[in-house]
Amino acid sequence: VYVSNQMRTEELAALDAAHHLHPFTNGDELNAKGARVILRAKGVTLTDSEGNDILDAMAGLWCVNIGYGREELAEVAARQIRELPYYNTFFQTTHVPAIALATKLAELAPGDLNHVFFAMGGSDANDTNIRMVRRYWAAKGKPEKQVIISRKNAYHGSTMGGASLGGMAAMHKQGGLPIPNIVHIGQPHWYAEGGEMSPEEFGLMRARELEEKIAELGEGKVAAFIAEPIQGAGGVVIPPESYWPEIQRICDAHEILLIADEVITGFGRTGNWFGSQTLNIRPHIMTIAKGLSSGYAPIGGSLVCDEVAEVLNGSGEFAHGYTYSAHPVAAAIALENLRILEEEKIVEHAGTVAGPYLAEKWAALADHPLAGEARSIGMMATLALTPDKASRAAFASDEGTIGLICRERCFANNLVMRHVGDRMIIAPPLIMQPSDIDVMIERAVRSLDETY
Ligand code: PLP
Repeated sequence: VYVSNQMRTEELAALDAAHHLHPFTNGDELNAKGARVILRAKGVTLTDSEGNDILDAMAGLWCVNIGYGREELAEVAARQIRELPYYNTFFQTTHVPAIALATKLAELAPGDLNHVFFAMGGSDANDTNIRMVRRYWAAKGKPEKQVIISRKNAYHGSTMGGASLGGMAAMHKQGGLPIPNIVHIGQPHWYAEGGEMSPEEFGLMRARELEEKIAELGEGKVAAFIAEPIQGAGGVVIPPESYWPEIQRICDAHEILLIADEVITGFGRTGNWFGSQTLNIRPHIMTIAKGLSSGYAPIGGSLVCDEVAEVLNGSGEFAHGYTYSAHPVAAAIALENLRILEEEKIVEHAGTVAGPYLAEKWAALADHPLAGEARSIGMMATLALTPDKASRAAFASDEGTIGLICRERCFANNLVMRHVGDRMIIAPPLIMQPSDIDVMIERAVRSLDETY
């Protein structure tokens, strides 16, 4: 069969159902109705095979920060493929895109995160982190420091390592997870779990679970703590202000490494280059992916501070790496993406124009009869759906159903929003203009009305 974008939607969907296994999807359910086929995209808008224009309030999967259809990236990719489509960086070789991207990342990253180990995405970068922090402590004569502490409802990827670091109950239930020496503490999700406590009290309590866990395991056993500055896939959980300063204090007071998973929060999402800057966190290692290339090529990595890099470099061969670590085409695309983000001041736009405008419009959604908290930070936002605003109750009988209905109403209204249980979340391209945000909010309200 010759498949082309000239085919009818039904034919495409039928072939998709016959041969394509989708990630994080109930296959039978999808195949019964057929997947929506996206043909092309420009700016903040997707076009499907029926000719509908869909506003993408998720920037793909939180990644298309500069928006779709940038010719410069296509040109850079073509040029790099002609010049050097592939070479590795394993056995005493390197190449210019790898050097250029690593140098640029060292310049952009906060503190002394001056070194980068490249991967293809966020999951495998977090796998690198597991191996790297254990290698680091072994090299320092403390091989018993093995345990990595993470959080429930965190998302750190879908490989065995990434999913083990993650605290997604549904993923762990599907077997073999977490791998040994990864433990989870509570999340700073005040709205869902804070009960009668104030957000600040609750934030402190949840941060102190880290100190309790370190004491329980013994400091000599703990290698690192990993967390997303703001949990993304967990529902855009913006922690109480008391949370991160206390976590930072605990990490400083005990001998453990702090890993900030900035796969979502990096590259402008929170209104600064990195979420660590927005939340005043000083990580030793930072996971990056997604916005690094704005999704135009699969690339991720671990940004590493001077001290950790020095120990790694000084301890013989780190027996780890991927065929496509620092893939030259992906690296060249990422570098061009960073140039566009920087020269067009897109991060500043997210922080000072689009972000504040979104904050104002999004907060007003809390007035909808279905809505509880409506919050945003930079260009990511969350809306809780609740039957009772005062008690912040969840829709208990069928957790997630109302969110699913709302998401489907949004999709029917040509708006991509995501749901996590009974929460609606967005992370649109950072280039959104106030007029795009108006359209997004208008479609969101219409979809909420239809859900109600
Ligand atoms: N870490 C975080 C915080 C993420 O949100 C994700 C993906 O959504 C990942 C890691 C995994 O990245 P990837 O899907 O590129 O492997």
